[in-house]
Formats: sequence, structure tokens, C-alpha cells
Amino acid sequence: MLFVICASSGAGKTTIIRELFKRFPAISFSVSATTRNKRPNETDGKDYHFISIEEFNAKKANNEFIETEEVHGNFYGTLKREVEPFLNSKDIMILDVDVKGALNIKDLYKEAVTVFIDVPYEVLVSRLKRRNTETEAEIEKRSSRIKMEAELKHRFDYIVDNSAGIDKAVSETEKIINKYIA
Ligand code: 5GP
Repeated sequence: MLFVICASSGAGKTTIIRELFKRFPAISFSVSATTRNKRPNETDGKDYHFISIEEFNAKKANNEFIETEEVHGNFYGTLKREVEPFLNSKDIMILDVDVKGALNIKDLYKEAVTVFIDVPYEVLVSRLKRRNTETEAEIEKRSSRIKMEAELKHRFDYIVDNSAGIDKAVSETEKIINKYIA
């Protein structure tokens, strides 16, 4: 089973996924490849396979990805070798991808379950501004991406509201996963 969890940045997705792994230790995580730089708290091979743009392009040419996207100027791709063992299997794998990637995966594998973690557009944009780490132009770019993502959320199998506290969103997502556990 592929379980695709998706949200705009700042919507709490990473925290929710971390909590889900505590509750379902047997679930696997699809480690994507990315060209972005590793952050200090990340581990290569666990959070991502951190690779150069040349390696990324070579893998793409070699047909090693099921989907790729450019997000905020970096490339990301879901590797076939990660997900293939979980197709036609009762074992669950969680994928953390952007909205377009999620919808592409759903097109490819109708049986994949897609979940959108929802926080109102205005809340996300005000968080982004308060963070004060991006330039005005960058905030503009990210805001229009959040808008595009919100417009696509109705194509997901489930929408989980994360505006009333993370615990509620985690338990709602947990309930969804439980429906699919044999
Ligand atoms: P970050 O760089 O903050 O870890 O991730 C940025 C965005 O890229 C997030 O929305 C994350 O879900 C998305 N992402 C991570 N891996 C993949 C992938 O393999 N494919 C796609 N389409 N998006 C990904």
C-alpha cells in the first residue's frame, strides 16, 4: 500500500509523519532522491538520498524514478526501487511528496491513498511572513505555490484539517491508516 501524505510548507506535515511512525513502527518510508543540500538535522539515506544534479539527471535518463518535481528550485524524485516492493502488498509505505507528485502517483497507481494536510491559506502565508527568513519576492513565489496547492486539495482521497491542533490531525490520519491495515 502506498500512503501519500502531502501538505503545503508550514502545515505541520513533518511533525505528523514523525508521530505516525511512533504509532506504526512497522510502516516504511519512501526515501526520495534530492539535489537540495542536506540540513544539519538530516541523515543521508534516511531522510533523503542527497545527490548531485548530474546524478539526478543520470537516474532520470535511466528511468529510475516514478515521478520527479522541481520544488523551490531543487529537484526531488521518488525512486522505483523504494516503492516497487510495496505495490500489490499489504505492507504500508508512507511517501512525503509535494502536491503535484502526489497526484501523479495517484494517476499511476489508482490504489495509492492520498492525504492532504490542510491549513488555511491565510494562516500559512502569515506564518511564512512571520518567519522572516525569505525575501519579499520569495514570499510572493511561495504564497502563489500555497494557493495552487490549496486549489488541488479536492483531488485527494482525504483532507485532514490541521488548524485545530496537531494531536487531532495525527489521530485523524491514524484512523485513516487503520482502515487499510489488514
Ligand atoms: P523539503 O526540501 O522541505 O524536505 O521538501 C520540499 C518539498 O518537496 C516537500 O513538499 C516535500 O514533500 C517534497 N518532496 C520530497 N520528496 C519528493 C519527491 O520525491 N517527489 C516530489 N514530487 N516531491 C517531493
